[in-house]
Amino acid sequence: MIDAFQYSLPTEIVFGFGKLDELPALLESYGVQRCVLVCDRFFAKKGAELLESTAQICAVFDDVEPNPQLSGVEETVRLMKEQNADAVLALGGGSAMDTAKFAAACAKSDRSPAEHFDGAPFGEKGAKIFAVPTTAGTGAEVTGVSVISRGGEKKTTHHPSFYPDVAIVDPALTLTVPPFVTMITGLDAFTHAIEAFWSVRHSAVTDLFATEALRVILASLEDAFRTGSKEARTAMAYGSLLAGLAFSAAKTAGCHACSYPLSMYHHLPHGEACAFTLDSFIRMNADDRLENLAKTLGFESCGALANKIARLKELGGLRARFSQCEGELDLDRLAQESEAHMLMRNNPKQFSKGELRAMFEKLL
Ligand SMILES: [Zn+2]
Repeated sequence: MIDAFQYSLPTEIVFGFGKLDELPALLESYGVQRCVLVCDRFFAKKGAELLESTAQICAVFDDVEPNPQLSGVEETVRLMKEQNADAVLALGGGSAMDTAKFAAACAKSDRSPAEHFDGAPFGEKGAKIFAVPTTAGTGAEVTGVSVISRGGEKKTTHHPSFYPDVAIVDPALTLTVPPFVTMITGLDAFTHAIEAFWSVRHSAVTDLFATEALRVILASLEDAFRTGSKEARTAMAYGSLLAGLAFSAAKTAGCHACSYPLSMYHHLPHGEACAFTLDSFIRMNADDRLENLAKTLGFESCGALANKIARLKELGGLRARFSQCEGELDLDRLAQESEAHMLMRNNPKQFSKGELRAMFEKLL
């Protein structure tokens, strides 16, 4: 029997190779007149091109950092107010999208972004959000979450007004992503899908998105890494989008809970930090439901699926042990902060601090 569920998504999705060409028409159909574009330095050239070619884009902030800082939000809001912008367009990975979401929510507020960062409630959404992911991916184009840091203080904020109005998923933008980034962002997408599947908040509809995301990602990630072909890139963009549709509602769990201290103390990029414990959690979370999923995906068992992940990590050159990582190792602190993280409550099994410490100990 199907359990009761609720699912909503206020984002229009425009998917397809070359679809970014439709940006001016899309902006027009949403009545956008003045749009600020946000991207990181890697996409500064593309940002400048879009500024040149798109009448509605009036300014560019191209200095978003990998762990997006509040200062980037402040600069975006300043530009939006100066330009009297009615929309913000994020071009990039999670960092650009997280910055644009937070900025849009602050754009018409009397309070500063810092006050909202400190917990002041958001009022009415101040601008429309257009999200254009350039990796496959974070799934941030279809979620109402933004992760912003002030110095070392990293904060995850959920808010309905953070959902992009439009997500333009154009796989052409991922053609130039280097192999290592392809693998870590691809494994991040895989983690979103499997964590949505095993989350205590999963539902029939998120299972559907998650299972198909896992199937598509498993079938195309290695090819996207090795050849970067148009077909593999398109499949990965689709798989990442489906994973986003799954975890947008079901949320993530243990791997993501552990990824925050792993990124903070050992400087692992988000996808690599999630992948660090992914195979461990597949083994530890294994139950009848997960064993069935592994079989559906063509594996004999959860153990075989975990081995596949370990092989992909090795192929991609990801760090899989603490001996390969920088930063001072403190297993107690890692276990304690992972156990205390709110996302750990979504994990299908509640592990004690001691059990998490034992998991990390096997990764020395
Ligand atoms: Zn993630």
